[in-house]
Amino acid sequence: MDTVFNENPHRRYNILTGEWVLVSPHRTKRPWQGKVEKPFIPLTATYDKSCYLCPTNTRMGGGKNPDYTTAYSFINDFSALLSDTPSGSVDENLLQAKSERGLCKVVCFSPNHSLTLPLMEEQDIEAVITLWQKEYKELGELPYVNHVQIFENKGDTMGCSNPHPHGQIWAQESIPQEIAKKSKNLGDYWNKNKKSLLLSYIEQELKLKERIVIENEHFVALVPFWAIWPYETMIVPKRHLQNITLMTEVEKTDFAKTVKELTIKYDNLFSTSFPYSAGIHQAPTDQKNNDEWHFHMSFYPPLLRSATVKKFMVGYEMFADAQRDITAEQAAQSLRELGNVHYSKL
Ligand SMILES: [Zn+2]
Repeated sequence: MDTVFNENPHRRYNILTGEWVLVSPHRTKRPWQGKVEKPFIPLTATYDKSCYLCPTNTRMGGGKNPDYTTAYSFINDFSALLSDTPSGSVDENLLQAKSERGLCKVVCFSPNHSLTLPLMEEQDIEAVITLWQKEYKELGELPYVNHVQIFENKGDTMGCSNPHPHGQIWAQESIPQEIAKKSKNLGDYWNKNKKSLLLSYIEQELKLKERIVIENEHFVALVPFWAIWPYETMIVPKRHLQNITLMTEVEKTDFAKTVKELTIKYDNLFSTSFPYSAGIHQAPTDQKNNDEWHFHMSFYPPLLRSATVKKFMVGYEMFADAQRDITAEQAAQSLRELGNVHYSKL
């Protein structure tokens, strides 16, 4: 990056969403490595009788979990979307609304209550990916489902109070706004260049090497040029794959490896169980060909400079644009330099 940009306020463009972020690097001359707090000690109890996700326990909605031994999914007892919603719409002058059908599922990553993705074995993360693939395919095939969102909220800070390793899947009729924005920008580039926008992007990033955190044979993890969250990252396959079901077995292994390595680096950054929202964006399941799509998994972590100091999206960001102080390059360098062994195992 031009040194002018390393030291002076500037705006960066997000090629996927078409939005801008304000970067103010002059406010932090160097990235914080603020390990001032005591390291968080990971949980040890592999089973918790009060946890509604542990095997054999009864859930709040009355359902009972089987004695599952690998990644396991079930319909959320408190789903935000319902499959039997009657169809209807409101269109009264300026007031518009439309009914929305859908389905919400919970995915338990492991039967072991004490684990998190960075502490799981690689082959067990692979089992989670296999379940994600199955859910994307099965939910996507439902006639009324046009989009499947796979995500994980990790940590109290992200509003997730149950430490049992789990994520969610919301499948629905409409194409959500974030997907619609990305479809448009991926599509415009595809139509013009007959090439995946994200493929061109990672080719450029791999030449520059300024924002790369992890690279292996089939995947790249990087801090996107336009990142909003201090340590935001994105995992992108090196091959143009519209969705996660198109990965080969070898690619799936590399994907699991990348998820593990990246989340270990996150935990090592502030010696804590690093909170984040992570999600996979991929082609809608609306029966269109969606050639332009290139799946990717994004991590949006709120922490700024320690296990407790987080970034707030308030003020200017609510009213104007997203803003960050440390640059994407500084964040990538910090993450890249961290070890691949979890701090609790050193
Ligand atoms: Zn549990």
